[in-house]
Amino acid sequence: MTAPLIFRKGLDLKHEVAHVLAESYHSDLVTTIKQSGYRYTAGRLTLHLAREFGFCYGVDRAVDYAYQARKRFPKQAVYLTGEIIHNPHVNEQLRAQGIRFLTDRGESLDSLTASDVVILPAFGITIELLQQLESRGCTLVDTTCGSVLNVWKNVKRYADEGFTSIIHGKYWHEETQATASQAMRAGRGHYLVVLDRREATLACDYIRQGGDRDGFLRNFEHAVSPGFDPDVHLARVGCANQTTMLSSESLEIGEMFRHAIRDRYGEAEANTRFRAFDTICSATQDRQDAVIALLQEQALDLMIVIGGYNSSNTCNLARICAGQLPTYHIADAECLTSAAAIRHKPVGVSQEKTASDWLPSAPVTVGLTSGASTPDNIVADVIRRLEHLANQA
Ligand code: SF4
Repeated sequence: MTAPLIFRKGLDLKHEVAHVLAESYHSDLVTTIKQSGYRYTAGRLTLHLAREFGFCYGVDRAVDYAYQARKRFPKQAVYLTGEIIHNPHVNEQLRAQGIRFLTDRGESLDSLTASDVVILPAFGITIELLQQLESRGCTLVDTTCGSVLNVWKNVKRYADEGFTSIIHGKYWHEETQATASQAMRAGRGHYLVVLDRREATLACDYIRQGGDRDGFLRNFEHAVSPGFDPDVHLARVGCANQTTMLSSESLEIGEMFRHAIRDRYGEAEANTRFRAFDTICSATQDRQDAVIALLQEQALDLMIVIGGYNSSNTCNLARICAGQLPTYHIADAECLTSAAAIRHKPVGVSQEKTASDWLPSAPVTVGLTSGASTPDNIVADVIRRLEHLANQA
């Protein structure tokens, strides 16, 4: 079987798709606001935008390559393995281009042939899925972000050096599943995924004094590599993270493991048993830093965070804000039902809820940011809707 064709650096059609991308995702209003100091006033509404928000470099590239793939292979079936990024509007736009989703009802990996084209998402896919696609001879357009590849490089190194990868992430998230598959390095390595400080504490306590092995494995049933034994595989650990986690929490979790290893094995040995590499991507870090700065610099009445409800980095932006002021994580402008009602996803809750009396009736100052998978035209729709609701008679 001949090796499948893999495009990793685009398909030489950047200029040909540029106008469609601009029409689909750009906003003149947002550009103007950026040029005006990220501030916008309209009647009794004052808006302050975070200095970094919206599409990151990885998402920009992934969407660009998807459009290029569609143009380059007009007569072939072009698939995505699933959502290219976690934004429903972007995924719908791609469907409108005729790009199919392997996760849709009726689609199947088994029906793929060598004439099909498959786009791999920005957050990567598991080694197992890659092998399945390669075995079918599909042409692949790999949009895996360089920052995700950097995480893979680190967990592969951990596996080579006999370290178990501790991945701060969501075990069900595609990026973490892909990273976990890399951490196993052809069956040689192991991993443990910890979601938050609580789970990190469970693992750190086990490092310090051992405990109920079966209970531990039940707790982390979906979050460990096959054959993982906490009595064996927590003796040498290397920390990494899903690129979109809350940076401050990731750093804290790394320190928790460092201390646990030191407490168990002593300071001198800790150096040979603990590794850490901050793999939060710079785009995530910049967006988190920008929203923290916005909260410090401006006296805001409330915060609007725009992005898909399953977007990890957007949820973390909302988490940062919700600790300080009323915060509404919304998917799009339609969530702003009226000045009296807003549909939003509260932090830590998976279901959308409706809040009432969210928009103060006096002059109001609103902070705004959006996740790395939210295009500027969605942000602009929200701004126009806010302007309308704040100033209606
Ligand atoms: S959030 Fe970071 S890792 Fe993910 S696609 Fe964007 S730049 Fe890449």
